[in-house]
Amino acid sequence: MAKGERVYVALGSNVGDRAAHLASARNRLATLPGTRVVATSRVEETAPIGPVPQGAFLNQMVLLETTLEPRALLGHLHAIESERGRERQAGVRWGPRTLDLDIVRYGDRSVREPDLTIPHPELPHRDFWLREMAELDAASEPARG
Ligand code: ADP
Ligand code: MG
Repeated sequence: MAKGERVYVALGSNVGDRAAHLASARNRLATLPGTRVVATSRVEETAPIGPVPQGAFLNQMVLLETTLEPRALLGHLHAIESERGRERQAGVRWGPRTLDLDIVRYGDRSVREPDLTIPHPELPHRDFWLREMAELDAASEPARG
């Protein structure tokens, strides 16, 4: 398999069996074409963000190596979300969700399209994402002698 890009994908869930939704997402990511799971961060619980009253989230970050282009990857992420019963409510952002999969970074690329922004615009505002990414970098660094 060609080496592919290093891609950070954020997993979040605050409805139903949150840990099971995350586990299922990890398994499905590992089966995507041209894709390998390089490392997974610890799972963290965080308070919901924004104006909608809802339960706490479980979050986790996964580092992938993938040959899928950003848009193709986004399509797969939406399919995995749907498999876990996610329903998008028109007009409601930051609402409750069984599973949310966001592309946080895709190699060094930047994408600015109406329905896809990379790096993810929330990255500078989410301390737990920054923490999780640092954890993944430490876990995936080649050993130094
Ligand atoms: P949230 O912003 O809370 O994650 P959604 O998961 O409902 O909300 O995402 C809404 C839309 O955000 C998606 O349909 C997708 O097209 C778009 N989007 C833009 N940039 C990204 C990204 N980097 N990763 C994932 N989705 C993105
Ligand atoms: Mg999302």
